[in-house]
Amino acid sequence: MIRIYLQDRGYTLREQEFEEDSIIGATGKGSADLQELRNLPGVESVKATTKPYELASRETKREDTIVTVGPVKIGGSRITVIAGPCAVESKAQIQETAALVRESGAVMLRGGAYKPRTSPYAFQGLGLEGLEYMKAAGEALGMPIVTEVVSPELAELMKDLTDMFQIGARNMQNFELLKKVGSLKKPVLLKRGPSATIEEWLLSAEYLLASGTRDVALCERGIRTFETYTRNTLDISVIPVVKELSHLPVLVDPSHALGIRAKVPPAALAAIAAGADGLTIEVHPRPDEALSDGPQSLYPEQFERLMRDIEAMAPVVGKGLLRTPRQGVFRPRDPIFSAPAGAVFSGERGAFSEQALTRIFGEDMPRRAVSSFRGVFEAVLDGSALAGVMPVENSLTGSIHENYDLFLQYPDIAIVGELKLRVVHCLLGVSGASMESITVVRSHPQGFAQCRAFLDAHPAWQCEACGNTAGAAAQVAAEGSVQAAAIAGEDAAKAFGLKVLKAGIESNPLNYTRFVVIARRIGDSAPVPSSLGSDPPNKASLVFSVSDKPGSLFRALKILSDGGINLSKLESRPIHGQPWRYLFYADVSIPETEGMFAPVIEALETETEDFRFLGAYRASL
Ligand code: PEP
Ligand code: MN
Repeated sequence: MIRIYLQDRGYTLREQEFEEDSIIGATGKGSADLQELRNLPGVESVKATTKPYELASRETKREDTIVTVGPVKIGGSRITVIAGPCAVESKAQIQETAALVRESGAVMLRGGAYKPRTSPYAFQGLGLEGLEYMKAAGEALGMPIVTEVVSPELAELMKDLTDMFQIGARNMQNFELLKKVGSLKKPVLLKRGPSATIEEWLLSAEYLLASGTRDVALCERGIRTFETYTRNTLDISVIPVVKELSHLPVLVDPSHALGIRAKVPPAALAAIAAGADGLTIEVHPRPDEALSDGPQSLYPEQFERLMRDIEAMAPVVGKGLLRTPRQGVFRPRDPIFSAPAGAVFSGERGAFSEQALTRIFGEDMPRRAVSSFRGVFEAVLDGSALAGVMPVENSLTGSIHENYDLFLQYPDIAIVGELKLRVVHCLLGVSGASMESITVVRSHPQGFAQCRAFLDAHPAWQCEACGNTAGAAAQVAAEGSVQAAAIAGEDAAKAFGLKVLKAGIESNPLNYTRFVVIARRIGDSAPVPSSLGSDPPNKASLVFSVSDKPGSLFRALKILSDGGINLSKLESRPIHGQPWRYLFYADVSIPETEGMFAPVIEALETETEDFRFLGAYRASL
């Protein structure tokens, strides 16, 4: 009906299907009455676009597209790193490189089997044989692969051998290739042509989307400028621009942009800082022996260092690094943690706890919000959620004591993971509200405490506490008054349709909240969600009290010190019902050397009273 209506009025149609709905793009010089169109059955909304690309445009689809390649996601709250050699050179070389980059945390393997080279005499790649080597290397390590396709005929031959097609820079406007590859409906990584404008690049993405695929990731790889010192010029500015114009994820390839090995890591970090969703990096076990692009290929040690830097930087831009576990064999997703019961957090949609949950478990983890922190414990205990995410400490305001105390009441709950999330607070209001119209500000007491300096500058505002920051946003949205504002995160603004009146109002930009992941104990241990990785735990949390005698705390701490165990946090809390007696909460390191930890903890348990081991887990950066 909708299609016939549009076709009858002279439009050419292009369609894109999503899980629950689809977008019909109509172009051409047709004439339709927008109001009439809106009233047709099945039409949810009608938008006129001002861009020559429609399916790729954010005007058509507001939410970020997350491209799925097997277990890997590109886009969203996590940074995806693809790494591998320029070209597959031999079975042994691709296996060796795959293992190295995976060990450093890369989640996808790259490598060319067909190499479009500037010179006809240069190494052209191993062809299908090389692709088979790469597929086997990727499969053995649980890494999906991406490889360049250079012609429509090869696309057909390669379609079952690769997880993602790469369209090379030189082929960005090879429209027959784009149409063919798009029609295969597999994920595509679309490089930007060396002289392509943003609009040309997005129109090439449009070709892919219009031909049938929905999984397109854009990749900036340097453009040609007057500068010849570097191989190309990395266009950093394109990242925030394209992220605004399009909903597609944007990756950056600093290797082909710079062409100089030592300059690749700083450019890679700059791309992450500018908002890139991920990177594709050339790495070779012995770059001097590489058959192509050796001078820009990183040594494995350089790649390892870069991955660590990315991991440390990601929270600053509100993201985490999607990574494979560092050691051990790839563990398929733990079935119990992908069950529909999912994870639970306290608050409303858009809460910082939900951001933490997404960073830990990924966008597609089923989730549920409950109204209190106790509710999080209860849901994990009764099995209606398999894991819970809970804030325990903030870098500006200290521990959230109520949550610590809950651990004592729920001995069957253990800590199995942690995450440090950068918390950026915003002042949110309804449309029409301004800083001048506000008289009341709503937030969680933590929100007020973390924005003390900002609130002190507006003494006339009345602060009214709510159960959580996202709840405050919900309330302000429901009230609809220009006099009320909420202090909450940007996600809460999106969830409740509020406007950001001022962003970054926390007293100090280094504002981090530490969240713990909790699960139910089964016997002596608690199952660890596989998205937390299978690295051995390096941190533990414990609780104990000591007798009211001289030196008793000293003796307890000496056991840790003598055992070579670092104490990263010690805090005392009153014992309920025993005035002036205290419990000590301690966070300690677990030494790498096996067998060093357990005897020390046993000795500590003997020395102290009310000893409780809350859990061992991997520390978050
Ligand atoms: C590549 O990534 O292997 C490649 C050849 O890159 P580009 O197409 O960007 O030159
Ligand atoms: Mn290359």
